[in-house]
Amino acid sequence: MHIGFDVGGTKTEIIVIDKHGETHFSKRISTVHNYQSFIDCIIELTSEAEQAVNGACTVGLGIPGVVNPKNGLVKNANSTFLNGKPLQKDLSEKLQRTVQIANDANCFALSEAKDGAGASGSVVFGVILGTGCGGGIIVDKKIITGLNANAGEWGHNPLPCHSLEKDGDTPRCFCGRFHCLEQFISGTGFARQYNNIAQTQLKAPEIMDLVKQGDKYAARTYHLYIDQLARALAGIINILDPDTIVIGGGMSNINCIYEDVIKVIPLYTITPDIDINILKARFGDSSGIRGAAWLGKN
Ligand SMILES: [Zn+2]
Repeated sequence: MHIGFDVGGTKTEIIVIDKHGETHFSKRISTVHNYQSFIDCIIELTSEAEQAVNGACTVGLGIPGVVNPKNGLVKNANSTFLNGKPLQKDLSEKLQRTVQIANDANCFALSEAKDGAGASGSVVFGVILGTGCGGGIIVDKKIITGLNANAGEWGHNPLPCHSLEKDGDTPRCFCGRFHCLEQFISGTGFARQYNNIAQTQLKAPEIMDLVKQGDKYAARTYHLYIDQLARALAGIINILDPDTIVIGGGMSNINCIYEDVIKVIPLYTITPDIDINILKARFGDSSGIRGAAWLGKN
């Protein structure tokens, strides 16, 4: 059996899945924002889950950051109490087994490549288009982390072919730069672009309702969004050429993006005859935690 933890800013969730991906236990609690208390909490939940399924489990954690391969310390976590901490070492010692830790977008991609929408592919790029924009690369069911643990981290690449006239300006991103992909192709970015021209404060699903009703600003924003997403994905295809791109996060629920973006991608790839599957995540919001559980398998 495999335990997966999804550590979010507000909630920490645990599941236990078996080798077929069936869930046998799950629980969700508020994230404790103190490192020692957090460690104690993970140990208690592991013990509770193992009692519930009556057996020892592997343990994997998906965190909103990465373990720095150079020194084993967590970096880039927006749950900042984890940063600079030897989380993997501490948990492995306390739980007396090797605890696996990965970035939550990598966990999402792993889940979809293992038994989700990308299960039939050997090279899968997982994309989360939600509040932010995350990515993960899976080759032969293994996460590609990279020397600096930066692989797949595409949300703060600049938008390809950005033009002020076409795409408009952006506020400075929290990363310090302007015109990051995240500011255009995340759900937040999509809404920002519409709200800028319509002087509203709508969210992405409400804007999509307006697209269906024929609102011209909403339609213009949607078509621009598809073009921006196509530019971003074409860059991935030109480098990695994955057989499947799986999309998760709030924007993945907009069912027309898949067929619309595939029509525009060939405008930006090196050759126009592109063979690729662009699919909605099979496990939706549960993908991240399932991927964390799969970290312990093998
Ligand atoms: Zn940025």
